[in-house]
This record gives sequence, structure tokens and C-alpha cells, in this order.
Amino acid sequence: MTAKKVLIVEDEQAIREMTAFHLSRAGFDVLEAEDCRTARGLLADQRPDLALIDWMLPDMSGLELTRMLKRDKEYEDLSIIMLTARAEERDKVSGLDGGADDYITKPFSPRELIARIQAVLRRSNSANEELLIAGVLELDVLGHRVSASGVDVRLGPTEYRLLEFLMTHAERVYSRAQLLDRVWGANVYVEERTVDVHVRRLRKALSEATADKYIQTVRGTGYRFSTRHT
Ligand code: CA
Repeated sequence: MTAKKVLIVEDEQAIREMTAFHLSRAGFDVLEAEDCRTARGLLADQRPDLALIDWMLPDMSGLELTRMLKRDKEYEDLSIIMLTARAEERDKVSGLDGGADDYITKPFSPRELIARIQAVLRRSNSANEELLIAGVLELDVLGHRVSASGVDVRLGPTEYRLLEFLMTHAERVYSRAQLLDRVWGANVYVEERTVDVHVRRLRKALSEATADKYIQTVRGTGYRFSTRHT
């Protein structure tokens, strides 16, 4: 297995070097950038698997950079973990959600950081698999087919994309606005209640196999796909 490439975007040299040291020792290929401009160059040239992005950077906020990358098709396979200085920042940043796959608060232990990186990379690897399996559901990414308990489920194209997105991002809650961005596309103008309409259709299609329970409403927040919290 080739080493995974991790880009560290952090302007504080001591933290960047310490992090780079521990990640290299853990077997990662490490790239370093002290600002967003350098980071963007490395992202384009080196195609890292994961970027560790500090919130406070000199030329642009890490949150803006994260948002930009998460909206760019070019980087759809890039995982992002955001670094924040304090727990309150972390809450604020995750509230503003740029779409990062995880957040970690400084100071962090190298062991915790490595565990988080591995977890995020594992998740994104399974997102690249061709067959997604969760509970009674199977989704064939290449064939765009869905079955529940072995029986084919017919879905409209939007319901299919919605289900695929939710299954590849299981256990995370997405707001309607985030789902619009990620499933419908960032430049599409659709009202948020459109999401509810399609969630309803999706649930109806899955209800025969009682797989509709995996599409969960999280009050005041949005939707989540989960086979655990049922
Ligand atoms: Ca910083």
C-alpha cells in the first residue's frame, strides 16, 4: 500500500514541524504549507489524500479555504480536518461548517491526531468502493442500482444521488442547505423545502423493506443516514 499524502496548512512553524514529524513517523507522506497560497499550489501539484487546515492563516481563513475546496469537483476525493485553537472556535467553525470531515482542537496529542486522520481516510476509502452496504441496503455505485433485502428499489435520479451521498457520509447530520450544495450542486437555486420533498420520496421508496428508518430527521438540524440510531 502506498503511503497516504497529508498536507499540513499551518502558519505556526513549531506546530507545523511537530505535526509533520509525528505524521512522517507514522508513515504518512507529509507536505507543508504556511499559507493558503502555498497550500493551493501543493494541492494542485501533489494531490494529497488529506489536508489538515488551521483555522487562522495569514492570507485567508482556513474555513474559507475548506469551503472552496469542498465545492470544487477537482478536490472531491480530498479529506479535510480543520484545526482550531480552542474548543469554542471548534464549535464556531463546525457551526459555520465549511464541510470539513472532522475538527480537532489544539493542543492535540500526536496519537489523537493520527487516529483521527486514519478514521477520516478509512471513511473516504469506503466512499470509493463500488458497492455500499448498510443494514439491508445495497447501493451499486457504478450501476446506479439500489436494493433492499435483495429486492430492487426504483429511485428517481435525485433520490438516488441523495441516497448515495447520505450512505457515503453515514452518521453525519447535514442541514438542508448543505444537502443542496452537495447533492444538487453549489450553483443551483432550489428552495430548501425541495430537500424535504425528495427525502419523502426516498423514504417512501425504501419503506417496503423498512429501510426508510435509516433516513433520519434530526430536529432543528437536518438529516442523517444511520443504521445505528434507529
Ligand atoms: Ca494559525
